[in-house]
Amino acid sequence: MSDYPLTINGRAVTTAESMAVNNPATGTRYADAPVCTPENLDAAMRSAQEAQIGWARDDAQRKHALQQCAATLTANSERIASLLTAEQGKPLTEALREVAAAAAWYGYYASLDQPVQVIQDDDAARIEVHHKPLGVVAAITPWNYPILLSSWKIAPALRAGNSVVLKPSPFTPLTSLLIGQLFAEVLPAGVLNVISGPNELGPLITAHPTPRKISFTGSTQTGKQVAASAATTLKRLTLELGGNDAAIVLDDVDPDTIAEKLFWAAFINNGQTCIAIKRLYVPRSAYGKYVDALAAIADQAVVGDGSAPATQLGPLNNEPQRARVAELVNEAVQSGAKIATDSTPLDRGTGYFHRPTILADVPDHARVVAEEQFGPALPVLAYDSIDEAIVRANSTDFGLAGSVWGSDIDLAQKIADRLECGTAWVNTHAAPSPRSPFTGVKDSGLGVENGPWGLESYTQLQTQYLAR
Ligand code: NAD
Repeated sequence: MSDYPLTINGRAVTTAESMAVNNPATGTRYADAPVCTPENLDAAMRSAQEAQIGWARDDAQRKHALQQCAATLTANSERIASLLTAEQGKPLTEALREVAAAAAWYGYYASLDQPVQVIQDDDAARIEVHHKPLGVVAAITPWNYPILLSSWKIAPALRAGNSVVLKPSPFTPLTSLLIGQLFAEVLPAGVLNVISGPNELGPLITAHPTPRKISFTGSTQTGKQVAASAATTLKRLTLELGGNDAAIVLDDVDPDTIAEKLFWAAFINNGQTCIAIKRLYVPRSAYGKYVDALAAIADQAVVGDGSAPATQLGPLNNEPQRARVAELVNEAVQSGAKIATDSTPLDRGTGYFHRPTILADVPDHARVVAEEQFGPALPVLAYDSIDEAIVRANSTDFGLAGSVWGSDIDLAQKIADRLECGTAWVNTHAAPSPRSPFTGVKDSGLGVENGPWGLESYTQLQTQYLAR
């Protein structure tokens, strides 16, 4: 039997079959999560469909309930964060920050309204535009920020009057299952159902006839499968997919002053962040200084179990991801790159650890530059002209985010404007806000999350035309 139940129709549901969830710091089983059966899935969809009708009617109830979701997260933040560290690997301080950020998202959407727009009101007619909920939304999330990324979906979907069936990643289902139980205290039964299971549960959800929308965050490869599956029933789609964010540093900044900021923008959550810096372009004239400064920070970073207070970088979340990062680093070295950091193996038993690695002299065709590494390995690349840096930054199928770092803010913004990505930062990176639209261009996604645009994406417009 699993240690955490599914939440279906407001009730805790146990299943006959369960799956092990490992603690990445030890590589051993931490707890068992339930495996949702097709019958459980049907029950979750049915309860969501039934609950949605009443939920859509009462705007004030929805606002109040979302405020209570925020308060529930805050009141239980230590319990949720320690479970998050145990299943995801991130340091406890970062886990607490993730829970606090999720609470901020619920609070933001609780206060956001979608007033009726009157686009004509004269002798001929009054024309109003109303936002209607879509119905049942299926939310599918990855393992890097399970709580925050589910809040980006649940909060606007519920605010708009939809009900939700949430499926977290099989690597990190526990915190979502816990939240399902906690939120059952403050949401009407069936408004939020949380189910878990292996990856094979995903296609059963996307092909299910009930949801009117799939909101998916994960890899580009899976996102394409989700889009194909959703097409057969014309479900609405939001796809937040992979990224290979470039940061371009201009020649008017001091490497020693900004190295620390650049490092943590790349190694946040151990590099397992869709909007981390994944390629760093610096002027050739200061190349050695950047490599040395970043390598010194990497070598001093405390790597360990996320539950230990001193830990700054935890393990990778899972063994396939650790192996992939190691493979990309090895392949870069075979292609002529140099490891600028300590490369002696970490002695951490069976945990999924990888030393933070700064790579110098990496050719652009190396996979660690061309693909999304999603881990603690950063290629530092020299450029000779800004135009060349922009072309190289844009020469990827991804387009999630990017950044430009410089003292001349106007110049930095002009360069940021030429980046082909959904978010372009100046002198910061990986700084999302509930208010700002978050969207990927090219293979980084479809649709938009956050802000009023994110809320709108969970609605269907209805024009009401009153002839006079
Ligand atoms: P993944 O694509 O392997 O899995 C994501 C989710 O999809 C999981 O819940 C998984 O069980 C489910 N799934 C797997 N196969 C499915 C299928 N055929 N149909 C439906 N669902 C299926 O991704 P991951 O490894 O968990 O996450 C890492 C990836 O997520 C990286 O590429 C990262 O860049 C991306 N990501 C993107 C964002 C963003 O906002 N753009 C945020 C975080 C992570």
